[in-house]
Amino acid sequence: MKRKSVLIYDKLQALKALMPRVHHLAGLWISYHLSRFAKKNFIFGMPIAMSIEPTTYCNLRCPQCPSGLRSFTRPTGSLSIETYIKFLEKIKSHVAFLTLYFQGEPFLNPYFIDMVREARQRNIYVMTSTNGHFLEEDIARDLILAGLNRIIFSIDGITQETYSKYRVGGNLQKVLQNLQLLASVRNRLHKKNPLIIFQFIVFRHNEHEIDIARKVAYQHGSDVFMLKSAQIYDDAKDPYLPTNPRYSRYEKNDSGKFVLKGNLPNRCWRLWHNPVITWDGRWLPCCFDKDGKYVMGNLNNQSSKQIWNSDQYKRFRKTVFSDRQQIDICKNCSEGLKVTFFD
Ligand code: SF4
Repeated sequence: MKRKSVLIYDKLQALKALMPRVHHLAGLWISYHLSRFAKKNFIFGMPIAMSIEPTTYCNLRCPQCPSGLRSFTRPTGSLSIETYIKFLEKIKSHVAFLTLYFQGEPFLNPYFIDMVREARQRNIYVMTSTNGHFLEEDIARDLILAGLNRIIFSIDGITQETYSKYRVGGNLQKVLQNLQLLASVRNRLHKKNPLIIFQFIVFRHNEHEIDIARKVAYQHGSDVFMLKSAQIYDDAKDPYLPTNPRYSRYEKNDSGKFVLKGNLPNRCWRLWHNPVITWDGRWLPCCFDKDGKYVMGNLNNQSSKQIWNSDQYKRFRKTVFSDRQQIDICKNCSEGLKVTFFD
C-alpha cells in the first residue's frame, strides 16, 4: 500500500470522526481563548479527545516509566470490557479521538482488540502506542479488521545493545519483525489502516543512530518516522539527555539545574480538550499526571459532564491560567512551549 494513500485515508477517517462532534471543538476553542484572556473559567463544549488506560501492567522495565519501575502509588490493574463499554457510552457523544493507551502495555489487556472494535463502531478514531512485543499474525489481522486507525511502535535503538539500555527486557529483533508483520498483513488485506508510526525517543546513548533508525523504520514498513525528546524527573537522570541540544527539551540554568527551554506560558490547550481515564475510572487532567495525583472525578459513578464542570476542575484550570508553576506536573511539561526541538 502506498504511503501517501495511507496518510490521506488516515486524515479522512479523523475528519469523519470529528464532524459529528465539531460543535464541541468550536465551543472548546472559543471558551479556551475567552478563559485565557479573562483568567476566568468559561466552558463551552466537552473534550473531543481522551486517553483510556487498558492496563498499568508492562512486560518491560523502562527506567523513566512508573509502569516499568513498578512505582505507582495509585492502584494498578486492567480495565474490564464491561466497564470500558460503560465509559464509551458516557463519552461517545463528544469524544472523536481516543488513545487506547496511557501507562502500561495495552496489548497485555486480553480485550484490547474488542476495545478497538467497540470504539470504531461508535465512529471514534482510535490510536494506540505499544512496545511491539505482542503482535502475532492473527492479532495483527484482527486489529486491522477491528479498524485501529493509528499505532505507534516505541523503538529507541537499532542495535540490541542500544535499544535495551532504555527498553530493559525488550527484544529488538522481535519488535522489528512484528512491525514488518503488521505492515505486510495490512498490504495482504488491501487495507489502509492503521497508520504505522516508528517513534524514537532521543537519548544520549542512541542519538548517533537517528539517521539509520529512519532507514530501518521505512524498510520495515512504517509510514512515519517520528523523533521524541526525553522527559526526565530529576537531575540525577541527566545521563539520559542527548549531548546535541537540538534533541533535548531541557537546558541547564545558572545554578546547573535542568529546566525546560523557553518560557512556560500560563495556559494549556491540552487541558481544555484531552483528559485521561485510568483503568479504574479516575479522570485526570492530562497524560503528564502519570501517577494520578490530580483526580478530577471518577467515570464509574459520575457523568463526563459532571466531572468536566466540577469545582476542582475549575480550580485546576484557573491555577494553570494564573500560575502554572504552582502545579508540579505543569512545571515539567512541554505543552505550549514555543521551542522546536527537531528540524
Ligand atoms: S501538565 Fe502540561 S498538559 Fe497537563 S495540565 Fe499541566 S500544562 Fe497542561
